[in-house]
Amino acid sequence: MSAAWGRTRSPSWSSSLAEPAPTGRPITPARLTVLAGPTAVGKGTVSADIRARYPEIWLSVSATTRPPRPGEIDGVHYLFISPETFADMVARGDFLEHAVVHGRHHYGTPRGPVDACLAQGRPALLEIDLQGARQVRTTMPEARFVFLAPPTWEELVRRLIGRGTEDDEERARRLATAKIEMAAQSEFDHTIVNDDVTRATDELVALISGESG
Ligand code: 5GP
Repeated sequence: MSAAWGRTRSPSWSSSLAEPAPTGRPITPARLTVLAGPTAVGKGTVSADIRARYPEIWLSVSATTRPPRPGEIDGVHYLFISPETFADMVARGDFLEHAVVHGRHHYGTPRGPVDACLAQGRPALLEIDLQGARQVRTTMPEARFVFLAPPTWEELVRRLIGRGTEDDEERARRLATAKIEMAAQSEFDHTIVNDDVTRATDELVALISGESG
């Protein structure tokens, strides 16, 4: 399948990019997609799958004041910065959106790389929380807003406990946020149920490439 898509690559947005030439099928150019959804639903896994299988889609790297988890690489998974640096960036207007997530750490989308990506005509994906999605909805209403949902609430709780990266207190905090986020699903243009990562990724890429929705 990917070999066939490789033959149909669009040269219009692949030639002027700093990163390695994309190898996938043509994607609708210059379209911003915002992916949100509750904690542990698998946004990070879907993003990693996109990074691996669809390099033609540019993934925004958020800045955060949260400390890195084991295996997380600065500049790849996040830009890990101090609260002081984050505050400086907010003051300079460097963020497209930013929020305190789960009542604890700051997260924000650096504006410059998103603008540069869209100016190059390359599709861009932001994986952010509900507050951030609402901010982008205000400033860039032309973006596409996609909600990643768990098959069931019980499955979401099971995934959060299963990944074992949070203590009891943090888990309770995240589940409280998740309840609020689940209730906001109708604000989004599309919902994708993450019952299978590959299928969910392909559904998202189909939306980005304009094959559906
Ligand atoms: P985690 O700490 O598990 O990596 O992420 C916690 C939450 O922060 C997730 O819901 C994730 O989508 C959200 N998040 C990550 N980056 C950003 C960002 O740049 N802006 C906003 N508003 N939320 C973000």
